[in-house]
Amino acid sequence: MTSFLTHRARVHDARLPLHRRHSALRTCLTVFAPYGLRATYHHLTLSAAIPRRLEANPDALARAVEELHEARMLWLLRADEYAAQRRAEKQAGRRAVPNPRPWWLQSWWESPDRAWYEDPFRHPSLRLSEYVRRQNAILDGAEPPGCPACGDEGPRVLSSTGHGWVELCRRCARALAPCPCGQRHRFVPETPFNWNEIWRRAHMSDDGTPNPHWPAG
Ligand SMILES: [Zn+2]
Ligand SMILES: [Zn+2]
Repeated sequence: MTSFLTHRARVHDARLPLHRRHSALRTCLTVFAPYGLRATYHHLTLSAAIPRRLEANPDALARAVEELHEARMLWLLRADEYAAQRRAEKQAGRRAVPNPRPWWLQSWWESPDRAWYEDPFRHPSLRLSEYVRRQNAILDGAEPPGCPACGDEGPRVLSSTGHGWVELCRRCARALAPCPCGQRHRFVPETPFNWNEIWRRAHMSDDGTPNPHWPAG
């Protein structure tokens, strides 16, 4: 728990070299990353406008870690409530974990959001706190319209699994209707990605907007 706050402070520390502040942001993401580490990092590069050369706008790192921190606080509150509720249920003799599991306890390979782990470019574009609020509301029984993850209400996209079809959200690629076999299948990115390039923000320009010349060729 202190790890996140310690590293958050490092991201803000203007006395540190920028590459250290950047790697502190990564450490924060290993602790909390609602879209998965890589997709959450990609999201933050866009939402906080992290330039390709960090020197071009060092404040972007602080914006990124604050967006993450804000969402984590909301999640911590709900996770505490959940833990208290589970303790009470166990005392009342209800030991089984309720289904569906809360969003933060699902493993990525059996999650409908598996695509975000296999293609860092696919994830909701919601601010992270909005995403956490939305997921918490769903956990509390709300049924907001559209894709449960991102709210998109457009037509779904069919994707073949070789023996059946999965219906995906056209925007975030969440599986809205699973393959009839009941398994979650691998999501194959439309364009192959290179994580090192994303990490170095090859997809961004120095002014913090997406790089129009990427990917090259
Ligand atoms: Zn979606
Ligand atoms: Zn299948």
